[in-house]
Parts: sequence; C-alpha cells; structure tokens
Amino acid sequence: MALLSNLQVPMVLRLRVSYRCCSCIALQDGDWWISRFRSRSRVMELLREILHEAAPISSSEMDDTYLWKPGNRPASSAFSTADTWSALHPHGESVLWHRQVWFHGKIPKHAFITWVNARNRLSTRYRLRRWGMQVPSECILCNVEDETRQHLFFYCSYSTEVWLYFCSRLNVNPPSEFEEGLRWLRNPSTDEFLKLIIRLVYQAVVYGIWKERNARVHSQIFRPAQALILEIKQVVQNCLDPLSRAQNSRRRDITLLGTWFSRF
Ligand SMILES: [Zn+2]
Repeated sequence: MALLSNLQVPMVLRLRVSYRCCSCIALQDGDWWISRFRSRSRVMELLREILHEAAPISSSEMDDTYLWKPGNRPASSAFSTADTWSALHPHGESVLWHRQVWFHGKIPKHAFITWVNARNRLSTRYRLRRWGMQVPSECILCNVEDETRQHLFFYCSYSTEVWLYFCSRLNVNPPSEFEEGLRWLRNPSTDEFLKLIIRLVYQAVVYGIWKERNARVHSQIFRPAQALILEIKQVVQNCLDPLSRAQNSRRRDITLLGTWFSRF
C-alpha cells in the first residue's frame, strides 16, 4: 500500500495503488503495471513519462489514497464535476462575434445558423465542390455567380434586395464583408431597442436566405425576395411581442414593439 501524491497528469486521473485489488492493480511485481505495455498511445506514453519511481511506493507502509487532479489544479480528495468538465473541455479561443450571435432575446435556430455561418461551415456549393462533389457551382438564387458564402449572403442580387429593404427601414449601412458585418453588430445603434431589432433582423435575413437556398436546391420551391421579406418581418415581429411585454426598461416613451412599428 502506498500514498500517491503530486501526480502531474494533465487530465482527471484516479489511480488505486494496490497489490491485491483484482479489479485495478496499478503495481505488480514491484513495477507499474502500465510500464509493461508497448502501446504507442499518447495517453499511455504520457502516463509512463510522469509516473514516479515504483520501488518507494511499493515498499511504503501507508494506505492508498484516492486523489482527483483535474487539469493544473492541485490534487484533492474532493471531486468537482465543474472542474472535471473544464479539464476535459478546455475553453476555446474567444471570438469577437460571440455576443453578437448569442445575445438575450435571440431566436435560437437563427442564432445557430448564424454561428455555423460565422465559422464558415455551411455547405455552400463552393465548399461542396472543394470537397470533390459534382454539384453545379452557380448560386441558385441568381444563377449568375458562384455560390460562395460572401456571394450568397451579401453580393447576390436576391440577397441584396432583402438587405436593402431592411437596412433602409432601419436606416443603417452595415459592411458587406461577412466578418466586418459581425463586428459591426457589436454596437449597431445607440438605441437599445434598435440594437436588438437590428441583431434579430440580421440573423433572420441570414437564416431566411439559407432556407430559401435550400428550398430551391432540395424542393425546387422558388419564392421571390418580397415573399422572404414578408416572412422575415412576421417572424421578427412575433419574437418582439413577448420580449416587449417582458421588457424591464427605464424607458416609458416607447416599447420594443413600438420601436419596431415605427420602422415597419
Ligand atoms: Zn446569387
């Protein structure tokens, strides 16, 4: 029996040091059980590198101790679910557009498509062809240019008609480059209600264009831009109604929905 402490393992580790436990024997015949394996697994290699000398441990008279060591935190006998999750799922690099996509009041499916699009993971024809798939390259909304992300969502004549309608009503002029547009959404207006409406409209337009594109590709259903505009207006208005009722604003002059109706 032995005390196992200060084990520098960059993961959650639970080891039992025992000669007699048949279910989990860490030490056998005076050496680490794991050292007998010739596995090239990176985890196994890492364990072999960090394990202490076996002899002092196997000759110790102290009882075994169970320790949890999530990530770089000190080893402890107490188990923390939160620390374990953080160790196994480290935070990724923060992105500038996080708050512009995942804001309070968002429509989840719109935010999801915007997020996937922000990471450039939507299956546009440009990307499908890069993967070697035999699909047409033309944008199905205009049949003029190749369907890249930038063209489909911003440069296409169909998309431009939708953007122009909403931007003129909201009196804004966002950048036409995708990443620049996301940065612009951080603070598109000094009016708190307009800021929320602009973000909702932005995501609804991105979602609507992608939905229209998919309807044309997969179902051969074609709608004019004006039909999409009407649908987006209705969706955003329906979203604003409950938000407006629940709003806790110091403003008394106008509501969220009132701001919407002043523009649309
Ligand atoms: Zn197009």
